[in-house]
Amino acid sequence: MVKIGSHVSMSGDDMYLGSVKEALSYDANAFMVYTGAPQNTIRKKISDLRIDEAVHLMEEMGLSFDNVIVHAPYIINLANPDPEKREFAISFLTEEVKRSAAMHAKQIVLHPGSAVGGDRELATKWIAEGVKKVILNTKDLPVKIALETMAGKGNEIGKTFEELKAIIDLVDEPNRISVCFDTCHTHDAGYEVKTDFDGVMKHFDEVVGSKYISVFHVNDSKNEKGAAKDRHENFGFGYLGFDSLLKVIYHPDFLDIPKILETPYVEGNPPYKEEIVMIREKSFDPNLVEKLKNK
Ligand code: FE
Ligand code: FE
Ligand code: ZN
Repeated sequence: MVKIGSHVSMSGDDMYLGSVKEALSYDANAFMVYTGAPQNTIRKKISDLRIDEAVHLMEEMGLSFDNVIVHAPYIINLANPDPEKREFAISFLTEEVKRSAAMHAKQIVLHPGSAVGGDRELATKWIAEGVKKVILNTKDLPVKIALETMAGKGNEIGKTFEELKAIIDLVDEPNRISVCFDTCHTHDAGYEVKTDFDGVMKHFDEVVGSKYISVFHVNDSKNEKGAAKDRHENFGFGYLGFDSLLKVIYHPDFLDIPKILETPYVEGNPPYKEEIVMIREKSFDPNLVEKLKNK
């Protein structure tokens, strides 16, 4: 069975329990959460996250912990030239990995970082050093750090498979590091995901190794291939299109890997329940966005 879900929120009084309820409301069997607002690093204590209740509900509803993913906040930059800020990023990520483990999540997605001054080689070195320290700080925790493939906006590191491979090699902890493959980002970075996903995966396998992929973000893109923009579109409504994205979801080599939607809300309405129906039924509804507008 395909493992499909979306990012869900973790906030208010319900926290993690609310995340599980939201995922269930979309009939998802996978989900991804930020442990607080993605644009800041203010976090509640682990004891206030309502983990026990969330875990009970997951067990009751047959939601596997293997399909639970945490996403680190995107303002964290392990490649910040300011050593104090790099230290902060490392200690914050260490706490994020501990929270992820407490939540029974098996992986935390990380945007590798941004080469602020433009020196990509130095940035790559700092990122690898930072990831390595986080792994050492959380030695026995069964949580992988999943480096996300990036669109290449600004000075983002991780636009090419070679850059991810360089980090993975420097970190040298194959059991604790993996890759989150985002379809919108790789398309925006210039890879031919739309018409030749098999070719892209062959290339990925040669450079990094297919076994490193631990999660897919299955987003459509608002922009042409190579635009380096990173603007997600609803499933089937962008430049990638429904059939190309279905090919990723049902690819026989990756059936066991969870797939997460980060497609945009339509006028305040989450599209996930309906997008998951389209994916399960393998049938595109060209009126979906219109319907969501009028919900
Ligand atoms: Fe991301
Ligand atoms: Fe993503
Ligand atoms: Zn994105």
